[in-house]
Amino acid sequence: MNRAKGTYDVLPNDIKKWQYLENIAKNIATKYNFSEIRTPIFEYSGVFHRESELSDMVTKETYNFKDKGNRDLTLRPEGTAGVIRAYVENKLYVESDLLKVYSIGPNFRYERPQKGRYRQFSQFSLEAIGIKSALLDAEVIKMSQEFIETLGLKNVSIEINSIGDLKSRENYLEALVNYLTPFKEELSNDSKERLIKNPLRILDSKDKKDQEIIKDAPKPIDYLSVESSNYFNELLKYLKIFNVNYKVNNQLVRGLDYYSDTVFEVKAEIKDFGAQNVLGGGGRYDNLVSELGGPKTSAIGFAFGMERLLYALEAEEVLNLEEDSLDVFIINFSKEFNLYTTSLLTELRNNNYFVDLDFTNKSFKSQLKKALKLNAKILVIVGDEEFNNNMVTVKNTKTEEQTTIKKDELIKTIKKELGY
Ligand code: AMP
Repeated sequence: MNRAKGTYDVLPNDIKKWQYLENIAKNIATKYNFSEIRTPIFEYSGVFHRESELSDMVTKETYNFKDKGNRDLTLRPEGTAGVIRAYVENKLYVESDLLKVYSIGPNFRYERPQKGRYRQFSQFSLEAIGIKSALLDAEVIKMSQEFIETLGLKNVSIEINSIGDLKSRENYLEALVNYLTPFKEELSNDSKERLIKNPLRILDSKDKKDQEIIKDAPKPIDYLSVESSNYFNELLKYLKIFNVNYKVNNQLVRGLDYYSDTVFEVKAEIKDFGAQNVLGGGGRYDNLVSELGGPKTSAIGFAFGMERLLYALEAEEVLNLEEDSLDVFIINFSKEFNLYTTSLLTELRNNNYFVDLDFTNKSFKSQLKKALKLNAKILVIVGDEEFNNNMVTVKNTKTEEQTTIKKDELIKTIKKELGY
């Protein structure tokens, strides 16, 4: 059997990379006072399939199924809607005026798999729910920058834009449709449909001809309401104070429909990254909480793709992982000594050493090979001599020095050799 299309296994040899990345993500979230939240990987379909959400990701790429109780369920394609559902259902708005949460976990989208694009992929995402503040937006963007810096990634840029509040967007949409209508016949089939259902999405089109047309289209930034324009200028001011290295990209709209005002993206400018160069992104959303049944509440969030971050770390060669090692490996010459070596093993583990032994009683050479592969610092060797005299031989694999000592002195000797 093969794994399902668009999925991958994280094998023991690769797990350290994931744990490394996850730890840095957790540390930075904790540093900015975000708490972890874990919501289900499937929700009732209505959580994602909302009337206002017409992005391809939600309308075309979700895994939908019925359970045996005939309920409509959807594997989460993104993290935000589920977190907001939990926020509303658990009335977390009663507890404080701002909830800051982060999450690391899988999402599912039926997309065409390629490098950096999978059907099951993992995101580090966070949400700050409850307050509309340009300072808070700046802080979230600053945190993204700090995350990237902590990882040691150099060739990464942060792009930001404002798509304005509802009023700005209504004005903009009218201008956009007026501009695009004369080009209607030249647009791709998808964009022809979008022109009626969701014109903003046309700005995201990957079609060459569409892109030609879009180049001279009006830009959201020119249609901002006074409030949105002031908000954006305030954000830029705070970003400067926070020393965030950003570019304003007036074409940026992001892939989901719930955003308003601030949107941003973190892009890898790394060779061979191709179209999958967006490491993460996010923005502010004003209506999602009320759409999911809560009070009118504004929030901001972002999500990074873990797989793409790992590619970036590898491409920039900044993944400095410590090698695994074992404190002690016990080499046992004969099955008859098993009880003896097991007592050594137990004693060492009781003293918190990382220990393993060979379960095969194969040749010394083969056990030694295994010990070295595991990077064992110390070998404890039990042969006839040692067994018959209640002794053990302790060999330091680095200095290659070895001594034969009484069994009782084992822990003392190990402590001396390892320094802990
Ligand atoms: P989005 O939720 O679409 O804004 O995506 C946020 C981030 O998740 C992107 O920048 C990618 O790094 C990552 N991402 C989105 N879709 C996929 C996918 N199919 N496979 C791998 N990573 C993805």
